[in-house]
Amino acid sequence: MIDLRSDTVTKPTPEMRQAAFDAVVGDDVYGEDPTLLELEELSANMLGKEAAMFVTSGTQGNQIAVLTQCVGGQEIIVEEESHLFFYEGAAMSVFAGVQPRTLKGNRGALNPAEVKAAIRGEDVHAPETGLICIENTHNRAGGAIIPLENMQAIAEIGKEYHIPIHLDGARIFNAAVASGVDVKKYAAQVDSVQFCLSKGLGAPVGSIIAGTNDFIQRARKWRKRLGGGLRQAGILAAPGLISLREKVDRLVEDHNHAKLLAQSINEIKGLSIENEVETNIVLVNTEAAKLTAAEFLAQLKQEGILAVPFGPNTVRFVTHFDVSRQNIEEVVVRLNRMMKILT
Ligand SMILES: *Cc1c(COP(=O)(O)O)cnc(C)c1O
Repeated sequence: MIDLRSDTVTKPTPEMRQAAFDAVVGDDVYGEDPTLLELEELSANMLGKEAAMFVTSGTQGNQIAVLTQCVGGQEIIVEEESHLFFYEGAAMSVFAGVQPRTLKGNRGALNPAEVKAAIRGEDVHAPETGLICIENTHNRAGGAIIPLENMQAIAEIGKEYHIPIHLDGARIFNAAVASGVDVKKYAAQVDSVQFCLSKGLGAPVGSIIAGTNDFIQRARKWRKRLGGGLRQAGILAAPGLISLREKVDRLVEDHNHAKLLAQSINEIKGLSIENEVETNIVLVNTEAAKLTAAEFLAQLKQEGILAVPFGPNTVRFVTHFDVSRQNIEEVVVRLNRMMKILT
Protein backbone atom coordinates (compact mmCIF):
# COMPACT_ATOMS: atom_id res chain seq x y z
CA MET A 1 0.00 0.00 0.00
CA ILE A 2 1.17 3.49 -0.85
CA ASP A 3 -0.52 5.63 1.78
CA LEU A 4 -1.26 9.18 0.63
CA ARG A 5 -4.21 9.79 2.96
CA SER A 6 -2.36 12.25 5.18
CA ASP A 7 1.06 13.30 6.41
CA THR A 8 -0.13 12.09 9.83
CA VAL A 9 0.52 8.49 8.73
CA THR A 10 4.31 8.91 8.86
CA LYS A 11 5.90 6.39 11.19
CA PRO A 12 8.67 7.41 13.61
CA THR A 13 12.10 6.71 12.17
CA PRO A 14 14.53 4.29 13.86
CA GLU A 15 16.40 7.37 15.21
CA MET A 16 13.19 8.70 16.72
CA ARG A 17 12.42 5.35 18.35
CA GLN A 18 15.94 5.21 19.76
CA ALA A 19 15.70 8.80 21.02
CA ALA A 20 12.42 7.96 22.77
CA PHE A 21 14.12 4.95 24.35
CA ASP A 22 17.09 6.98 25.52
CA ALA A 23 15.14 10.09 26.63
CA VAL A 24 15.87 11.49 30.08
CA VAL A 25 12.44 11.97 31.63
CA GLY A 26 10.66 13.42 34.66
CA ASP A 27 7.15 14.45 35.64
CA ASP A 28 6.12 17.22 33.26
CA VAL A 29 3.14 18.33 35.36
CA TYR A 30 5.79 19.30 37.94
CA GLY A 31 7.79 20.91 35.11
CA GLU A 32 10.52 18.31 35.59
CA ASP A 33 10.86 16.54 32.26
CA PRO A 34 14.16 17.85 30.82
CA THR A 35 13.53 16.48 27.33
CA LEU A 36 10.10 18.08 27.13
CA LEU A 37 11.46 21.38 28.45
CA GLU A 38 14.13 21.26 25.76
CA LEU A 39 11.49 20.72 23.07
CA GLU A 40 9.39 23.61 24.36
CA GLU A 41 12.42 25.92 24.48
CA LEU A 42 13.55 24.98 20.98
CA SER A 43 10.00 25.46 19.66
CA ALA A 44 9.68 28.90 21.24
CA ASN A 45 13.08 29.91 19.81
CA MET A 46 12.27 28.67 16.32
CA LEU A 47 8.97 30.58 16.33
CA GLY A 48 10.42 33.69 17.97
CA LYS A 49 7.87 33.47 20.81
CA GLU A 50 8.51 33.82 24.55
CA ALA A 51 7.20 30.41 25.49
CA ALA A 52 5.80 27.18 24.11
CA MET A 53 3.91 24.17 25.41
CA PHE A 54 3.58 20.59 24.20
CA VAL A 55 0.01 19.40 23.62
CA THR A 56 -1.34 16.02 22.61
CA SER A 57 -2.75 17.07 19.24
CA GLY A 58 -3.36 19.97 16.93
CA THR A 59 -7.01 20.03 17.88
CA GLN A 60 -6.12 20.24 21.57
CA GLY A 61 -3.67 23.06 20.83
CA ASN A 62 -6.23 25.05 18.84
CA GLN A 63 -8.89 24.59 21.50
CA ILE A 64 -6.54 25.58 24.32
CA ALA A 65 -5.73 28.73 22.33
CA VAL A 66 -9.45 29.49 22.08
CA LEU A 67 -10.11 28.73 25.75
CA THR A 68 -7.15 30.82 26.91
CA GLN A 69 -8.02 33.88 24.83
CA CYS A 70 -11.84 33.91 24.83
CA VAL A 71 -14.71 33.83 27.28
CA GLY A 72 -18.13 32.26 26.77
CA GLY A 73 -20.56 34.27 24.68
CA GLN A 74 -17.92 35.66 22.36
CA GLU A 75 -17.61 35.12 18.65
CA ILE A 76 -14.57 33.92 16.71
CA ILE A 77 -13.81 34.91 13.13
CA VAL A 78 -12.72 31.83 11.18
CA GLU A 79 -12.43 30.84 7.54
CA GLU A 80 -15.45 28.73 6.58
CA GLU A 81 -13.43 25.67 5.61
CA SER A 82 -10.79 26.04 8.32
CA HIS A 83 -9.92 23.05 10.51
CA LEU A 84 -11.12 24.90 13.61
CA PHE A 85 -14.60 25.20 12.11
CA PHE A 86 -14.79 22.20 9.80
CA TYR A 87 -13.04 19.39 11.63
CA GLU A 88 -13.11 19.93 15.40
CA GLY A 89 -16.60 18.70 16.28
CA ALA A 90 -17.77 22.21 17.24
CA ALA A 91 -15.30 22.02 20.13
CA MET A 92 -15.12 25.83 20.38
CA SER A 93 -18.85 25.90 21.13
CA VAL A 94 -18.83 22.82 23.38
CA PHE A 95 -15.86 23.80 25.53
CA ALA A 96 -15.35 27.56 25.26
CA GLY A 97 -19.02 28.47 24.69
CA VAL A 98 -18.13 30.70 21.76
CA GLN A 99 -19.74 30.80 18.34
CA PRO A 100 -17.93 30.84 15.04
CA ARG A 101 -18.39 33.69 12.56
CA THR A 102 -17.34 32.17 9.26
CA LEU A 103 -15.95 34.10 6.32
CA LYS A 104 -15.15 32.67 2.92
CA GLY A 105 -11.48 32.90 2.09
CA ASN A 106 -9.65 33.22 -1.18
CA ARG A 107 -7.55 30.05 -1.34
CA GLY A 108 -7.95 29.98 2.43
CA ALA A 109 -6.88 33.60 2.96
CA LEU A 110 -9.37 35.84 4.77
CA ASN A 111 -10.09 39.16 3.11
CA PRO A 112 -8.89 41.82 5.62
CA ALA A 113 -11.72 44.21 4.71
CA GLU A 114 -14.26 41.46 5.40
CA VAL A 115 -12.55 40.64 8.71
CA LYS A 116 -12.82 44.28 9.71
CA ALA A 117 -16.47 44.43 8.69
CA ALA A 118 -17.24 41.26 10.66
CA ILE A 119 -15.96 42.67 13.97
CA ARG A 120 -18.90 43.31 16.24
CA GLY A 121 -19.57 46.72 17.68
CA GLU A 122 -20.95 47.82 21.03
CA ASP A 123 -24.55 46.68 20.86
CA VAL A 124 -26.73 44.89 23.38
CA HIS A 125 -27.67 42.34 20.69
CA ALA A 126 -24.17 41.48 19.63
CA PRO A 127 -21.60 39.01 20.90
CA GLU A 128 -18.10 40.45 21.26
CA THR A 129 -15.49 39.37 18.77
CA GLY A 130 -12.99 37.42 20.88
CA LEU A 131 -10.48 36.00 18.42
CA ILE A 132 -9.49 35.91 14.76
CA CYS A 133 -8.09 32.63 13.38
CA ILE A 134 -5.82 32.12 10.40
CA GLU A 135 -4.88 28.70 8.98
CA ASN A 136 -1.50 28.47 7.20
CA THR A 137 -1.07 26.35 5.14
CA HIS A 138 -4.77 25.95 4.51
CA ASN A 139 -5.71 22.30 4.33
CA ARG A 140 -9.04 22.40 2.51
CA ALA A 141 -7.68 25.00 0.09
CA GLY A 142 -5.18 22.34 -0.93
CA GLY A 143 -2.20 23.25 1.22
CA ALA A 144 -2.37 26.87 0.04
CA ILE A 145 0.14 29.25 1.60
CA ILE A 146 -1.43 32.30 3.24
CA PRO A 147 0.79 35.19 2.09
CA LEU A 148 2.70 37.03 4.81
CA GLU A 149 1.21 40.35 3.59
CA ASN A 150 -2.30 38.99 4.16
CA MET A 151 -1.36 37.98 7.71
CA GLN A 152 0.21 41.40 8.29
CA ALA A 153 -2.98 43.15 7.16
CA ILE A 154 -5.08 41.03 9.54
CA ALA A 155 -2.55 41.63 12.34
CA GLU A 156 -3.05 45.39 11.90
CA ILE A 157 -6.79 44.95 12.32
CA GLY A 158 -6.27 42.80 15.41
CA LYS A 159 -4.11 45.54 16.96
CA GLU A 160 -6.54 48.30 16.05
CA TYR A 161 -9.48 46.51 17.68
CA HIS A 162 -7.51 44.78 20.47
CA ILE A 163 -8.56 41.34 19.26
CA PRO A 164 -6.01 38.52 19.57
CA ILE A 165 -5.11 36.40 16.55
CA HIS A 166 -4.50 32.65 16.56
CA LEU A 167 -2.55 30.89 13.85
CA ASP A 168 -3.53 27.30 13.17
CA GLY A 169 -0.14 26.51 11.76
CA ALA A 170 -0.51 22.74 11.75
CA ARG A 171 1.64 22.91 8.58
CA ILE A 172 3.33 26.30 9.09
CA PHE A 173 6.76 24.77 8.42
CA ASN A 174 5.49 23.63 5.02
CA ALA A 175 4.52 27.25 4.34
CA ALA A 176 7.89 28.55 5.52
CA VAL A 177 9.96 26.05 3.53
CA ALA A 178 7.91 26.55 0.35
CA SER A 179 7.74 30.35 0.50
CA GLY A 180 11.21 31.02 1.89
CA VAL A 181 9.62 33.22 4.57
CA ASP A 182 11.13 32.59 8.02
CA VAL A 183 8.58 30.87 10.25
CA LYS A 184 9.29 33.61 12.84
CA LYS A 185 7.81 36.20 10.47
CA TYR A 186 4.54 34.30 10.21
CA ALA A 187 4.48 33.76 13.98
CA ALA A 188 5.22 37.44 14.64
CA GLN A 189 1.84 38.40 13.15
CA VAL A 190 -0.16 36.47 15.72
CA ASP A 191 -0.65 36.17 19.48
CA SER A 192 -0.79 32.38 19.57
CA VAL A 193 0.35 29.68 17.19
CA GLN A 194 -0.14 25.93 16.97
CA PHE A 195 1.92 23.59 14.82
CA CYS A 196 1.90 19.80 14.46
CA LEU A 197 4.95 17.65 15.11
CA SER A 198 2.99 14.59 14.04
CA LYS A 199 2.35 15.57 10.40
CA GLY A 200 5.06 16.15 7.83
CA LEU A 201 7.67 16.54 10.57
CA GLY A 202 7.23 12.85 11.27
CA ALA A 203 7.00 12.67 15.08
CA PRO A 204 4.59 10.04 16.38
CA VAL A 205 2.53 12.29 18.68
CA GLY A 206 2.00 15.91 19.52
CA SER A 207 1.71 19.56 18.68
CA ILE A 208 3.14 22.74 20.11
CA ILE A 209 1.40 25.97 20.99
CA ALA A 210 3.37 29.13 21.53
CA GLY A 211 2.86 32.73 22.58
CA THR A 212 3.80 35.07 25.42
CA ASN A 213 4.87 33.76 28.83
CA ASP A 214 1.55 34.93 30.21
CA PHE A 215 -0.42 33.14 27.47
CA ILE A 216 1.43 29.86 28.02
CA GLN A 217 1.06 30.09 31.78
CA ARG A 218 -2.72 30.39 31.42
CA ALA A 219 -2.75 27.77 28.65
CA ARG A 220 -1.11 25.27 31.01
CA LYS A 221 -4.12 25.49 33.28
CA TRP A 222 -6.50 24.81 30.37
CA ARG A 223 -4.40 21.89 29.22
CA LYS A 224 -4.58 20.41 32.74
CA ARG A 225 -8.34 20.95 32.87
CA LEU A 226 -8.72 19.09 29.60
CA GLY A 227 -6.73 16.16 30.95
CA GLY A 228 -3.72 17.02 28.81
CA GLY A 229 -1.16 17.24 31.61
CA LEU A 230 1.34 14.51 30.80
CA ARG A 231 3.92 12.91 33.03
CA GLN A 232 7.10 11.32 31.58
CA ALA A 233 6.36 12.98 28.24
CA GLY A 234 10.03 13.18 27.29
CA ILE A 235 9.37 9.86 25.56
CA LEU A 236 7.17 11.85 23.14
CA ALA A 237 9.33 14.97 23.11
CA ALA A 238 12.53 13.20 22.04
CA PRO A 239 11.18 12.33 18.57
CA GLY A 240 9.79 15.88 18.35
CA LEU A 241 13.29 17.30 18.87
CA ILE A 242 14.51 15.24 15.91
CA SER A 243 11.57 16.56 13.87
CA LEU A 244 12.51 20.17 14.53
CA ARG A 245 16.25 19.68 14.09
CA GLU A 246 16.29 17.38 11.09
CA LYS A 247 12.93 17.16 9.36
CA VAL A 248 12.04 20.74 8.51
CA ASP A 249 14.24 21.42 5.48
CA ARG A 250 13.39 18.11 3.85
CA LEU A 251 9.72 19.15 3.53
CA VAL A 252 10.79 20.55 0.16
CA GLU A 253 11.01 16.95 -1.06
CA ASP A 254 7.36 16.39 -0.17
CA HIS A 255 6.45 19.55 -2.07
CA ASN A 256 8.41 18.43 -5.13
CA HIS A 257 6.70 15.04 -4.98
CA ALA A 258 3.28 16.71 -4.78
CA LYS A 259 4.08 18.85 -7.83
CA LEU A 260 5.28 15.82 -9.77
CA LEU A 261 2.15 13.91 -8.82
CA ALA A 262 -0.12 16.81 -9.82
CA GLN A 263 1.58 17.32 -13.20
CA SER A 264 1.33 13.63 -13.99
CA ILE A 265 -2.30 13.35 -12.91
CA ASN A 266 -3.25 16.36 -15.03
CA GLU A 267 -2.18 14.36 -18.08
CA ILE A 268 -4.48 11.45 -17.25
CA LYS A 269 -7.82 11.48 -19.08
CA GLY A 270 -10.76 11.93 -16.73
CA LEU A 271 -8.75 13.49 -13.90
CA SER A 272 -7.85 17.09 -13.20
CA ILE A 273 -6.09 18.99 -10.42
CA GLU A 274 -8.23 21.48 -8.49
CA ASN A 275 -5.56 23.35 -6.57
CA GLU A 276 -2.39 25.23 -7.36
CA VAL A 277 0.04 22.86 -5.66
CA GLU A 278 2.28 24.95 -3.41
CA THR A 279 3.07 22.45 -0.66
CA ASN A 280 2.29 18.77 -0.01
CA ILE A 281 -1.42 18.52 -0.84
CA VAL A 282 -2.95 17.57 -4.20
CA LEU A 283 -6.71 17.78 -4.80
CA VAL A 284 -7.89 15.60 -7.67
CA ASN A 285 -11.24 16.06 -9.40
CA THR A 286 -12.86 12.88 -10.75
CA GLU A 287 -15.98 14.39 -12.34
CA ALA A 288 -14.85 14.14 -15.96
CA ALA A 289 -14.38 10.41 -15.46
CA LYS A 290 -17.98 10.23 -14.14
CA LEU A 291 -16.69 8.82 -10.89
CA THR A 292 -17.64 9.91 -7.40
CA ALA A 293 -14.82 10.32 -4.91
CA ALA A 294 -15.97 7.11 -3.18
CA GLU A 295 -15.97 5.10 -6.43
CA PHE A 296 -12.56 6.43 -7.41
CA LEU A 297 -11.12 5.67 -3.96
CA ALA A 298 -12.46 2.10 -4.01
CA GLN A 299 -10.74 1.47 -7.35
CA LEU A 300 -7.60 3.18 -6.10
CA LYS A 301 -7.47 0.89 -3.09
CA GLN A 302 -7.55 -2.12 -5.41
CA GLU A 303 -4.42 -0.66 -6.99
CA GLY A 304 -2.77 -0.46 -3.57
CA ILE A 305 -3.07 3.31 -3.16
CA LEU A 306 -4.82 5.14 -0.32
CA ALA A 307 -6.20 8.70 -0.39
CA VAL A 308 -9.20 10.41 1.27
CA PRO A 309 -12.48 11.92 0.00
CA PHE A 310 -12.59 15.72 0.12
CA GLY A 311 -15.88 16.42 -1.64
CA PRO A 312 -18.42 14.60 -3.86
CA ASN A 313 -15.91 14.44 -6.72
CA THR A 314 -12.74 15.50 -4.96
CA VAL A 315 -10.00 13.31 -3.54
CA ARG A 316 -7.02 14.49 -1.47
CA PHE A 317 -3.50 13.10 -1.79
CA VAL A 318 -0.85 14.18 0.73
CA THR A 319 2.86 13.55 0.25
CA HIS A 320 5.12 12.89 3.24
CA PHE A 321 8.45 11.38 4.18
CA ASP A 322 7.33 7.78 4.02
CA VAL A 323 6.57 8.29 0.31
CA SER A 324 9.59 8.27 -2.01
CA ARG A 325 9.91 9.63 -5.53
CA GLN A 326 9.79 6.03 -6.72
CA ASN A 327 6.49 5.58 -4.89
CA ILE A 328 5.10 8.64 -6.66
CA GLU A 329 6.21 7.29 -10.04
CA GLU A 330 4.55 3.98 -9.15
CA VAL A 331 1.31 5.78 -8.22
CA VAL A 332 1.32 7.46 -11.64
CA VAL A 333 1.83 4.14 -13.43
CA ARG A 334 -1.00 2.50 -11.50
CA LEU A 335 -3.33 5.49 -11.97
CA ASN A 336 -2.73 5.49 -15.72
CA ARG A 337 -3.52 1.79 -15.89
CA MET A 338 -6.63 2.17 -13.75
CA MET A 339 -8.03 5.17 -15.62
CA LYS A 340 -7.45 3.54 -19.03
CA ILE A 341 -9.84 0.80 -17.95
CA LEU A 342 -12.35 3.17 -16.34
CA THR A 343 -12.62 5.81 -19.08
C1 LIG B 1 -4.29 18.20 11.30
C2 LIG B 1 -4.74 19.58 11.52
C3 LIG B 1 -5.13 20.00 12.78
C4 LIG B 1 -5.35 19.06 13.95
O1 LIG B 1 -4.35 18.23 14.28
P1 LIG B 1 -4.66 16.85 15.06
O2 LIG B 1 -3.35 16.55 15.65
O3 LIG B 1 -5.13 15.90 14.01
O4 LIG B 1 -5.71 17.13 16.07
C5 LIG B 1 -5.46 21.32 12.96
N1 LIG B 1 -5.40 22.17 11.94
C6 LIG B 1 -5.04 21.81 10.70
C7 LIG B 1 -4.98 22.83 9.62
C8 LIG B 1 -4.70 20.49 10.44
O5 LIG B 1 -4.35 20.13 9.21
